[in-house]
Amino acid sequence: MPDLEELKENRFYKMKPQWKGRCSCGGLLWLNMKAGSVNEKCKHVDCMKEFDVSRICDTCNNTYEFDDALCTECEPIVIELTQCKNNMINADKVLKKANRAFKAGDISETEWKKVTKDLKDESLRCELKVEEILGRYTN
Ligand SMILES: [Zn+2]
Ligand SMILES: [Zn+2]
Repeated sequence: MPDLEELKENRFYKMKPQWKGRCSCGGLLWLNMKAGSVNEKCKHVDCMKEFDVSRICDTCNNTYEFDDALCTECEPIVIELTQCKNNMINADKVLKKANRAFKAGDISETEWKKVTKDLKDESLRCELKVEEILGRYTN
C-alpha cells in the first residue's frame, strides 16, 4: 500500500465545495462552523436559514458531503496509479541489482536473462497502465 504522501501527489481530482453564496431570501450566506464541520448560514436576521455545503469531485462529478475528503470513485484509481509508479521504480532497482549480480558472476546468464525479461515486462505493463490512467483522468 503506497503511503499517504505518495497518494496525495498522485491525486488528480479535487473535491470542490459548492458554496451557494446567497440565500433564497436574497440575503448573503456566511460560513458557519457547526459541530466540527461547516455549513452556510443566512445573515438576514429574519431568516437565519442554514444550508449544507456539498462537495463535487471535479473528475467524476459525484456529490459528497462537506466532510468527505476523498472520492470513493476516483481514489481506488489514484491508489492503482501510485502502485504502478512504485512498481516501476522497484523493477528498475531490482534490474540494476540483477545486472550487478550477473557481472559479479553470482547468477547465470540464463537466470539473468529471465529476471531481466520479467522485470522489463512488468515495467512496461505498469508504464502502459500509468499512461492509460493519466490519459483517461487528466487534462
Ligand atoms: Zn435567508
Ligand atoms: Zn471522483
